[in-house]
Amino acid sequence: MRSRRREPVIQVKCDYCGEQTETFVATPNHLLFCIVQTVGSPPEKDCMTDYNRSKSNVRKSENEKEQRRLQTSQEQFQKSQKKEKEKIIKKFDDYLFELNQKSRRQRATK
Ligand SMILES: [Zn+2]
Repeated sequence: MRSRRREPVIQVKCDYCGEQTETFVATPNHLLFCIVQTVGSPPEKDCMTDYNRSKSNVRKSENEKEQRRLQTSQEQFQKSQKKEKEKIIKKFDDYLFELNQKSRRQRATK
């Protein structure tokens, strides 16, 4: 043995950027993220925050998309409902009109 054993350096792979890092944080669900931060100053690299931010962004935009899709289909449904209603009302009006015409004619013949 010529040299003393070096201090073991733990290197992990960051679950966000994929880089090997010696300074990392672990989350309760066993994800590892690099964190480069000098105490008292904002972090130079904080993959956990980036990861959470990107995840919540994705979830939010997906929700918005889904909501917009639901809203659109709801609007289309209401529109078709309205059309259907108008059709029925028109039919009913025609029917009433015909009925009136008929009774008028009947009255006329009497
Ligand atoms: Zn990272």
